[in-house]
Amino acid sequence: MRCDYHTHTTYSDGSFLGWMVHAAESAGLDAIGITDHCIVSSREGPRHQRENMGFNLDVTYERRRAAIDALNERRDIDVIDGVEMDFHPDDETEIAAFLDEVGFEYAVGSVHEVDGTNVHFEDHFAEQSAAARRDHVTTYFDRLVALIESELFDIAAHVDLIERNSTLRGLATDEQYRRVAEAFTDSRTVPELNAGRVLSEYGEVHPTPQFMEILREEGVEFVFGTDSHDPSEIEPRKEELEKFAATHGVETTTLAL
Ligand SMILES: [Zn+2]
Ligand SMILES: [Zn+2]
Repeated sequence: MRCDYHTHTTYSDGSFLGWMVHAAESAGLDAIGITDHCIVSSREGPRHQRENMGFNLDVTYERRRAAIDALNERRDIDVIDGVEMDFHPDDETEIAAFLDEVGFEYAVGSVHEVDGTNVHFEDHFAEQSAAARRDHVTTYFDRLVALIESELFDIAAHVDLIERNSTLRGLATDEQYRRVAEAFTDSRTVPELNAGRVLSEYGEVHPTPQFMEILREEGVEFVFGTDSHDPSEIEPRKEELEKFAATHGVETTTLAL
C-alpha cells in the first residue's frame, strides 16, 4: 500500500496530525490522506450530530491546511489535504457548494446514518422488526447509490458500513450490491478497501468478499483506507489490507491528484 486515503486527526475524532503522519511514514507509506469528518447539512439531525461530536472542519480547514503544508515541507511522506463528508441526498447542494469553495485535494463521501441514527448504534435497530431493519438496509444502499451518482466525491468510504452493526449484518442482497457496482462503473467515484473494524469486533474488511466480487465483475477499482484514528492503528491495518488484497488478488489504484 503506497497511500492510506482515510485517516482522522484532532480536527475531528482522531489523534494529533503530526503523530498520524509520523506513524504513516514509519509504516512505509509514501502518502497519507487526512480525511477529518465534516458535516455541512443544515438539517436538524446532522446539525446536532456535528455539535455533539464537536466536528468543525468546515470552520478549521484553513488551519489544518497550514499544518499540512508545514509538515509537507519537513517530511518525506506526502500529506494530502482531504475530507470525509457525511452524505445524504437532501444535502447535495450544500455539500457541492462547500467542496467547491474549500477545494480539498480530494473528498471521501460516507453514508453514516439511516433512520435518523448513526449506523453503528446497535440498540436503536435491535428493537426493530426484521422487516424494518431490511428497509433500513435498502435505504442505506439507495443513499450510497445517490452518493456515487452525485459525482461529488473521489472515494466512497466503507461501502457496506451496515455490516459493522450486528443487527443489520447479512441483510444486504446481491441485487443491492449489483446496483452499487453499476453506479460505480458510470462514476468518477471509487470505493475503498476499508480497515476501520478489521482488528476489532467486526473483524472484516469493507466490503465483504461477496460484495467485492460483484464490484470486481463490473470492473470497479479500489483504493486503500485504514480509517485510522490513532497512530498505532495505521501499520497493523495497512498490513491487514495488504493481506486481504493479496488473498483476493485485488489490485488497488491511486487517485490522480
Ligand atoms: Zn466513516
Ligand atoms: Zn473515517
